[in-house]
Amino acid sequence: MPTMGALHDGHLSLVEIAKKNADKVVVSIFVNPTQFLPQEDYARYPRDEEADIEKLRAVGAHAVYAPSQDEMYPVVSVSDVHAGPAAQGLEGESRPTHFDGVTTIVSRLFRHVKPHVAVFGEKDYQQLQVIREMVDDLHMAVELIPGPTMRDEHGLALSSRNTYLSPKDLETARKLNKVLREVAKGKITTEAATQKLLDGGFDDVQYVAQRWGRVLAAVKLGRTRLIDNVVDNSH
Ligand code: AMP
Repeated sequence: MPTMGALHDGHLSLVEIAKKNADKVVVSIFVNPTQFLPQEDYARYPRDEEADIEKLRAVGAHAVYAPSQDEMYPVVSVSDVHAGPAAQGLEGESRPTHFDGVTTIVSRLFRHVKPHVAVFGEKDYQQLQVIREMVDDLHMAVELIPGPTMRDEHGLALSSRNTYLSPKDLETARKLNKVLREVAKGKITTEAATQKLLDGGFDDVQYVAQRWGRVLAAVKLGRTRLIDNVVDNSH
């Protein structure tokens, strides 16, 4: 189960799913530089490996793989993997090199750990599609298992980046899932949702879109970028 650490209950719910589907659960912790754009938050991304290991111990993960930069990106490296068509649009448009970084690191983690099954969160729905394409195209012998998005009591999707938010920002952030649900019910269009999010206090709305039977969005609150998606019941 690949993660970038700063673990929350969303990550831990995936460990529970992994435990039901495998004898041994290995969780990787690696903040992958190649999936961040130069202007993004790589340097200040939250890191707390000791607390992460404690949380993983408590939920019964069997091993943690926390490789160094050099292990994942040796000087001689011939195994970059390019993301396929699912990477086009949405996140791929806002973050052009992001998914190539994701496919490269996940393929390397798979080669190092050799899992039979791998659990990925639906929170990163486009990522799930991109990884699925990679596994199919490269005939990787790994079964992908999606895990549902864990949310706080206001519906806000748990995210390591929520730690960046002030109490006021948190209040705004909690509007995101509510607006997406309105689109999902067919009550408002994606255009109306964009306007509603801007009126609700978000500083930028990078997209609100319907794809893969989901309503997906990326927004910014100050420097913090948040994504979410819900099942689309509008059709
Ligand atoms: P990250 O550490 O952000 O790279 O996420 C590691 C894994 O946890 C990815 O498969 C994410 O989709 C998943 N994940 C992140 N947030 C949540 C959440 N709120 N609920 C379920 N899974 C999540």
